[in-house]
Amino acid sequence: MGLVHDNLIHIRQQMADACLRSGRSLQEVELVAVTKTVPVSRIREAIDAGVRVIGENRVQEAADKAIELNREVVWHLVGHLQSNKVKRACEIFSVIESVDSLRLANEIDARAGQLGRTMEVLLEVNTSGEPGKYGVAPEKAILLAKEIALCKHIRLTGLMTVAAFLPDPQEVRPCFRLLRTLRDELQRQGVPLVHLSMGMSNDFEQAIEEGATLVRLGRALFGERT
Ligand SMILES: *Cc1c(COP(=O)(O)O)cnc(C)c1O
Repeated sequence: MGLVHDNLIHIRQQMADACLRSGRSLQEVELVAVTKTVPVSRIREAIDAGVRVIGENRVQEAADKAIELNREVVWHLVGHLQSNKVKRACEIFSVIESVDSLRLANEIDARAGQLGRTMEVLLEVNTSGEPGKYGVAPEKAILLAKEIALCKHIRLTGLMTVAAFLPDPQEVRPCFRLLRTLRDELQRQGVPLVHLSMGMSNDFEQAIEEGATLVRLGRALFGERT
């Protein structure tokens, strides 16, 4: 068995340990293998080793890979979506994790309607407040989530964040806690969200301890990107 397989075994152990520490069940946390720049041959290794959810940043890259990987995997879009790519995105992806405006949601709603499907989406929140980052500002997230939840051909199932990138993963916890607080508040207000997509290779254990249901891992699984 190859390196990706070994990495996956190690990651699963780390996920299980983080669940144990926080009194959670491993079944509550799904691994999204983020495959930007990763060649299809290595993605195949991951699928052979048991990965079932693939995350891609770009619509075209996912489209090219999906043709080669005609297997039973689920595709999540984790990168920013331009409106001229929405139609294609609705054809390829099961979940669009990176919705951060009503305009984009409306576009997805319309395209999904044309395709006769309901699109599952997450609302991306800029929990670190860093300028130039995608995601709605936390103080606008509740209202926007409620508006998106009204879209007929969209099922809003949770929140996503790209947290601050800090050398000490313990310092990222406030971002994760903020996302969880927003989800819990939305639940209280009647929006039935389940997912918290948070945590990447450097901080997924902390994210799981803070309630992540989706962790998005690239480098931990495939090694450094070239
Ligand atoms: C690249 C990327 C990841 C994975 O990052 P790693 O540090 O390689 O684990 C997760 N989420 C998004 C949105 C990304 O762009």
